[in-house]
Amino acid sequence: MNTSQPLISIVVPVYNEDEVLLEFHETVIKVMSELPVYLEIVYINDGSVDNTLKLINDLRNKDKRITLVDLSRNFGKEIALSAGLHKAAGDAVVVIDADLQDPPELIPRLIKEWENGYDVVYAKRTRRGGESFLKKTTAHFFYRLIQRIGKISIPEDTGDFRILSRRAVSALNTFKEQHRFMKGLFAWIGFKQKAVHYQRDARRAGESKWNYWHLWNFALDGITSFTIAPLKISTYIGLITALGAFGYGIYMLIDTLLHGNDVAGYPSLIVIILMLGGTQLVAIGILGEYLGRIFNETKQRPLYFINEYLPSELAAEKQLDNSKQ
Ligand code: UDP
Ligand code: MG
Repeated sequence: MNTSQPLISIVVPVYNEDEVLLEFHETVIKVMSELPVYLEIVYINDGSVDNTLKLINDLRNKDKRITLVDLSRNFGKEIALSAGLHKAAGDAVVVIDADLQDPPELIPRLIKEWENGYDVVYAKRTRRGGESFLKKTTAHFFYRLIQRIGKISIPEDTGDFRILSRRAVSALNTFKEQHRFMKGLFAWIGFKQKAVHYQRDARRAGESKWNYWHLWNFALDGITSFTIAPLKISTYIGLITALGAFGYGIYMLIDTLLHGNDVAGYPSLIVIILMLGGTQLVAIGILGEYLGRIFNETKQRPLYFINEYLPSELAAEKQLDNSKQ
């Protein structure tokens, strides 16, 4: 191995992608063959139930630059990605989706910026093709919200598609949390970051594994793992409601003393009860969201299990070198 050339790992979480995987692989190989770098492609099979695993194995038999990490079941993209980052051997690591929504053609530009000394170079989309109006607006709203209430700024219109320097990867590998909102963690580690702009296409084939329920949970993870603002907000809502109720109570008392009370007061009573009940339920719900996550984290379970791990040739060489030291 010529040490003047860097080793680039391309980390790809895959879940039921047999329709696009070959096209994706060919595109990546084609793009990368024009660059003066060593290549490793890390495919993390995230418990696919279609032909994906077989396809990866076939590819690997022909090309020893491929690393296969076969997880023991479906763990979700964020965990699959983490598994890939743990195993990637490269001097820099590119994170990319298998569905060709992240154009591999952009990788040379990411690598160039990394060579210019940036630790995290993320791809920022200028347009979202093939996505519904609702998904676009909810995504937009979510980024604005997390920017506003979180203490870190997560770049908007950015997916996971990016290049990470070795020290950025090492930083990410120290995170032990179960609920990992990768986009947030990428921003959280800091270092020198830069955006590269591109236009995003619709998925080439297969279908998105995200539905609104997933997106909602994703958003909850994003918010609860980066800010405790909702807890504070619920405190203030509670405070305001209590003050309001106190003021109203005094008013009622004076009013009754001055004018007496003719009606039974049912409307005001029911309004107050409902209002207080509702506020309390919301506050308890917010507490529950955090409590549930604390519960999950305190179990300190391993993030994932690996069914089979077949390192690429260069990754195996590096591990050998490391174990000799
Ligand atoms: N993915 C995964 N595990 C999952 C769901 C998705 O590894 O449980 C992979 C999927 O194969 C793809 C990437 O994560 O490479 C992005 O998934 P998808 O295109 O469904 O997400 P979207 O682009 O809609 O955000
Ligand atoms: Mg996609």
